[in-house]
Amino acid sequence: MAKRDYYEVLGIDKAADGSAIKKAYRKSAMKYHPDKNKDDPAAEEKFKEASEAYEVLSDQDKRARYDRFGHAGMQDAFGQGGFGWKDFTHGSEFEDIFSGFSSIFDTFFGGGGYGGGGRQRVNRGEDLQISLSLSLKEIARGVDKKIKINVQIPCSTCKGSGSKDGKTRTCTQCNGSGQVRQMRRSFFGHMSTVVSCPTCHGKGKIITDACPVCHGDGRVGEAKTLNVHIPAGVAEGQYIRMRSQGNTGPNGGPSGDILVLIHEKEDDIFERDGDNLICEYPISYSQAALGTELDIPTLTGKVKMKVPAGTQSGRVFRLKGQGLTRLNSGYHGDLFIRVAVITPTRLNAEEKQLLEKLAKFDSAKKLHPGKSFFQKLKEFFV
Ligand SMILES: [Zn+2]
Ligand SMILES: [Zn+2]
Repeated sequence: MAKRDYYEVLGIDKAADGSAIKKAYRKSAMKYHPDKNKDDPAAEEKFKEASEAYEVLSDQDKRARYDRFGHAGMQDAFGQGGFGWKDFTHGSEFEDIFSGFSSIFDTFFGGGGYGGGGRQRVNRGEDLQISLSLSLKEIARGVDKKIKINVQIPCSTCKGSGSKDGKTRTCTQCNGSGQVRQMRRSFFGHMSTVVSCPTCHGKGKIITDACPVCHGDGRVGEAKTLNVHIPAGVAEGQYIRMRSQGNTGPNGGPSGDILVLIHEKEDDIFERDGDNLICEYPISYSQAALGTELDIPTLTGKVKMKVPAGTQSGRVFRLKGQGLTRLNSGYHGDLFIRVAVITPTRLNAEEKQLLEKLAKFDSAKKLHPGKSFFQKLKEFFV
């Protein structure tokens, strides 16, 4: 089924501000929250849909990307596996909206996913972030990079259990069940929810003697080298999510993700504007007056460009398709060349003589910076 437009999902228009988005989401969440619609898969779907829309539209960066590329852009930008609504289960973005309500959220999104009913969430390893600086050339073509990162891996001494000798005792807080009941205030009044026991992290057992290597955590740090593929056309601030490559969870919990944040290095020649590139190109007075052919640098080599006689300084030429590849599409942006006429600062005797000769022919009548310029000048002094 095709995805609905996020604005349509939340019933807001494209110009909606942050508070309008929040309000619309709150309304949807209240209406479709599965706790209020037990055994209604349609409501569950609606809730998921609204949550995903909120996640994107409440984030300036993601919203801008969505406005520009639509759903396709979101999937591309979020890397392998696409944009998962589950992503926000370990974010804090909803805490202000669902203050006092988070226990439902925890239970609801616990463990393996929606409706999974798992209770391992507290045990999940941390997500790790690493930033990757890329040149414009690398962005233009896409690139494979190796990244080195320190991650927590299962301790080999205790095989991730955290226990020195394998001996455990029953947790006294949950009496071995691994779960505790909690009363919380929420949108819908007082609610009783079952959550994972914070003392034993849902295991029901506590280690008697901690492993001397990992001190009971079950994990140790290790430098890891990962290959990451960067598709062509990425931009500053986007990230690639490498699922389950982050820290392993304590005491054998599931691994977190690694987020590779894209940083774009400044380029000496090109300025980037979305898919387009801009380049300032200096030419001489005689080249501008007589016309010339220039060798224009591009990200993949060079192309010839004709500059007609009588070109004014500041004129912009467009080289179609010589810009950047749009992320995961065949579309190419353009390269804009802005020529700038450079006035010479050092002249030899011959050049000076020639220019002085030329000066005798120069008059405002012959130069044509646009007739309107003289018209404006006249009006200015009136
Ligand atoms: Zn316990
Ligand atoms: Zn250990």
